[in-house]
Amino acid sequence: MNDELPFLPYGRQTIDDDDIASVVDVLRGDWLTQGPTIDTFEADLAAAVGARFAVSFCNGTAALHAACAVLGLGLGDEVITSPITFSASANCARYVGAKPVLVDVEPAHATLCPSKLAAALTPRTRAIIPVHYAGLPADMERIHEIASARQIPIIEDAAHALGAHLPGSCVGDGRFSTMTTFSFHPVKHITTGEGGAITTNDEALYDALKLFRSHGITRDPRRLTRESPGPWYQEQMLLGYNYRLTDIQAALGRSQLRKLDRFVAKRRELAARYDRAFDGVSGIRPLGKRAGYEHAYHLYVVLVDFAFFGCERAHVMTALRDKRIGTQVHYVPIHHHPDFAYLGYKPSDFVEAEKFYAASLSLPLFPTMTHDDIDRVVSALLEVLGA
Ligand SMILES: *Cc1c(COP(=O)(O)O)cnc(C)c1O
Repeated sequence: MNDELPFLPYGRQTIDDDDIASVVDVLRGDWLTQGPTIDTFEADLAAAVGARFAVSFCNGTAALHAACAVLGLGLGDEVITSPITFSASANCARYVGAKPVLVDVEPAHATLCPSKLAAALTPRTRAIIPVHYAGLPADMERIHEIASARQIPIIEDAAHALGAHLPGSCVGDGRFSTMTTFSFHPVKHITTGEGGAITTNDEALYDALKLFRSHGITRDPRRLTRESPGPWYQEQMLLGYNYRLTDIQAALGRSQLRKLDRFVAKRRELAARYDRAFDGVSGIRPLGKRAGYEHAYHLYVVLVDFAFFGCERAHVMTALRDKRIGTQVHYVPIHHHPDFAYLGYKPSDFVEAEKFYAASLSLPLFPTMTHDDIDRVVSALLEVLGA
C-alpha cells in the first residue's frame, strides 16, 4: 500500500550531472588509468584535509592493507582496533601476518576506549587503528598521548569521517596519527564507485605507499639499484599489488570532493533534526557527541532499548522495510565472525561492544534526504516501537 513512497536506504550516493560530465571527459581523453587525473585528485584530497600527501587506492580496504604493509608489520606483531567496525579494520593486520587485538569501545560513542587501550598494550603492540565510528572521531587526543609515549604508530580508519574535525585539526591532517585511511564506497561521504586513499605527512611512507600500490615497481632513477640500460627499464623493489584507482574514478572523486562541505553540512542538518525528534523520548538515545569535535555523520545511529518497547530489532527492521524505510546494524562485532574465532575472544570480553550491538540501529541518512523524509522515518520508528 506504500508502493508509491520512495524507498529510503540507510545511505546512498549523490551523483549530479557535473559528476557525470567529469567522468565522460576522462573517457574521451587519453588516460583511463595511470594518468594525470589521479595526481590532481590526490592533490585535491591532501589540500582538503590539510595533509602533505595523499595516495589513492582501488578501495579503502586496500588502503588499510597498504598502511600496515609500509609500517613493516608482520608475524608476531599485534595491531589494536575495536570490535565495533567493519571487518577490513582488523583484516588489514591479518593480510600482513600480524594479529588483530580487540579493545572495547566507549559506551557513548562506540569508539576505541583510551583507558582500555592503555591496559591492552604489550611489547608486541606495533600499531593502533582507531575507527571514527559513524563519523565522530575517536578520542584522538588521549589515544595519541598513549601511543606516542610508547612510539606506537596510529593508522586512523577514517572511512566514516571525511570532513570531520577535532580540536585544532581536520581528520586526515596527521596531527594525531601517522596515516589516515578513507573509503569512497557509495555509502561514504564522497564516492568513486569503489575507491580509497591514505593521507600522511611522511614522505618516506608516501613513496612506499605508491610503490606498494603498483606492484612494488618503479622507474624513478633515484630509486633504481642499477644504472638504467634504457628507457624500458624498471625495477621491482618489493612485493606490491595492483591496488590502483583509475582516472575514470579519480575524475568522479575530484568532482565529488568539491561538494564535500555541502554534503557534510547537509548530513549535520538532517542529523540535528533526528536529534531534536528523539530528544526526551524514553528508550531511544542518539549516539553521543564529544565536546570540540565536529561529527561528519556517515551514519545516523540510535540506541534503542528494544526490551523497554517489548519488541525485537529484527521485527522493527522488517516493519520499517514494509514502510519503505531501510535500516542497518553497524556492525556485527568483529569477534562474532566465525573467521575471527581463532583469536579466542568471548562476548564477555567486550561488555560495552555487546551492549552497543544489542541496541544500535542505523537510520537513513544521505544528502538528498528532505526534512519530510526525516519526519517520515521518525514517525514510522515511533509507531513501530509503539512509543
Ligand atoms: C567502508 C569501510 C572500510 C573499507 O572500505 P572499502 O572501500 O569498502 O574497502 C573500512 N573501514 C570501515 C570502518 C568502513 O566503513
